[in-house]
Amino acid sequence: MQPLTNADLEAYLNEELAVEEASSIEEQIRQQPELKQRLLEILARRDAGVHSLGEIWRRHRITCPSRPSLQQYLLGVLPSPEETSYITFHLEQIGCRLCAANLADLITASEQSEEEADQQTQSTRRRKYFQSSVGGLRKEKS
Ligand SMILES: [Zn+2]
Repeated sequence: MQPLTNADLEAYLNEELAVEEASSIEEQIRQQPELKQRLLEILARRDAGVHSLGEIWRRHRITCPSRPSLQQYLLGVLPSPEETSYITFHLEQIGCRLCAANLADLITASEQSEEEADQQTQSTRRRKYFQSSVGGLRKEKS
């Protein structure tokens, strides 16, 4: 893999990169603390008064995963492990409040729909039981 230049990092910060490129850069930033430092230096030049990478991320809201991605993350069905680790990083390291709120909302929604599904199964079962006992009674009578 090519070492990242400041121009790459600038492009990343300006959100000029394709999703795959951006996530590959994020991956490298995660693995190489010196890149994080360089990123901070670039941003310090532009954005005086910002002190942590998390703050920068939040401020620029860089590449928040989409709601469908968060949903897939929740269900553990994201197509690639990179995406999963990116979202984990985004939520846990960056502490993106926007995504945390989105995720909490999705969890609530999925719990509700599970409850609804449960209730439906139960009432279907009840109906089946009722029908079969009625059927049984009919047979006995005849
Ligand atoms: Zn986010």
